[in-house]
Amino acid sequence: MAGNDDAIALDPKSPEVMTSFYQRLYPFKTVFTWLSHSVSNPGGTNDGTTGNGLSGRGPVPAWTHREFAFTLQNDAYLRYLSFNDADELKKQVIKLVPQRFEVGAIYNAKPRDKKTLPPGRLQPTRRELVFDIDMTDYDSIRQCCSGGAVCKRCWGFIAAAVTVLDRSLRRDFGFSLLLWVYSGRRGIHCWVSDESAMQLTDDQRRAIMGWLEVIKGGKEMVKKVNVRGGRGDSAGGPLPLPPSLEEALGILSSEFFIPLILQDQDVFRKRKEGWDVLLDLIPDKEVRSRLESKWAAQAEIEMEDDDDDEETQSNEVRKSEKKWEDLKKEIKGVPKGTPRRQALTAAMEDIVLQYTYPRIDAEVSKHRNHLLKAPFCVHPGTGRVCVPVDPLRVNEFDPAKVPSVGQLLGELDALAGSAEVDELDWEQTSMKPYVEMMEEHNRRILQASRERKMMSEGRKDMSW
Ligand SMILES: [Zn+2]
Repeated sequence: MAGNDDAIALDPKSPEVMTSFYQRLYPFKTVFTWLSHSVSNPGGTNDGTTGNGLSGRGPVPAWTHREFAFTLQNDAYLRYLSFNDADELKKQVIKLVPQRFEVGAIYNAKPRDKKTLPPGRLQPTRRELVFDIDMTDYDSIRQCCSGGAVCKRCWGFIAAAVTVLDRSLRRDFGFSLLLWVYSGRRGIHCWVSDESAMQLTDDQRRAIMGWLEVIKGGKEMVKKVNVRGGRGDSAGGPLPLPPSLEEALGILSSEFFIPLILQDQDVFRKRKEGWDVLLDLIPDKEVRSRLESKWAAQAEIEMEDDDDDEETQSNEVRKSEKKWEDLKKEIKGVPKGTPRRQALTAAMEDIVLQYTYPRIDAEVSKHRNHLLKAPFCVHPGTGRVCVPVDPLRVNEFDPAKVPSVGQLLGELDALAGSAEVDELDWEQTSMKPYVEMMEEHNRRILQASRERKMMSEGRKDMSW
């Protein structure tokens, strides 16, 4: 594409491209409603481009006290920005053309007044509960891509994470206002807007993470799942999983472990960082050494056959599945009900969790003042827009099919002259279903907010 004028013209690092994107496509009004839990400019145009965005309603603290941060084209990072309304944000974005902007907490004063306030006076008060899952944390497992790359195949790890975390946040914690957003490259964010989530203190957020964090330990730690208490070896026998993890394990083993880990990624195919890790995770010397001899002998035969024909190729397929079967057979040979058998069964369950349970960047979730990239920003590397993702269809999501800024501006250019005048620009592009997904989410946020208001007014009536 180098040398092609169109490609250069549509480079997401070009300020002209980003200015057009912010001017014509970024859904400021929709994002305003999502963050402020209120509707902007009810009587005027509904794209947040004209009027004060808040006519007749006065300022909304959930918006005016909300921190934004801009990353400019020269990588300068501006924190503690805040805006009176959606229009003011839009004007600043078009003026400074950040490569992206982030959303932080709602504070007890306007963040932009920070310098004039006494030190320590500006404190975060409310904030969505957020989660960040990045493919980097799967680099030791995934076989198809590395570094910044992601494909439909390794997206399976993200799909597993979303499926389990979404269920847990709804079932175990009772949240319902969840928005999942593709990060534009190789990860996903979740924003929980329930009032009970908005009000969580940092301590409470840490407690939630303590509950949700199952995969721990750096590269040097082979076993990354330690959630049972008990000794976990054949001497004492391990304790069962907590009930919530039991359910997650059920989903992960039936929907993800076999098709993703054993079949598609074939994680235990190679010895180094493959089946040698699997062996390290087996807490039974006897079983481990039998499997090791068997697999090492197989590997040698395969080496000899290496120059042979396609038959060897087909033998290559699904090596991991066979190894998993070998392990299962070994376990079946150990008498039921014995601590040894329990330890091996627990180890198998822990292996499923280690390879498929969500790997959450815990620090992002623990602090209210942590900033996270706003939905619908453009990733400067890929040019792709950070679009909402339907958690029920996360398996079908293909990062390669997410519209890029170049594609969207091209769609608008192709429409020039024939566009419907009463439609907004984003409505005429591939952005439409994604913005509509957030608007649907906003309707649920507004409904919950109305219900809360009615409840509190009802309570006041009762006390009277
Ligand atoms: Zn991949």
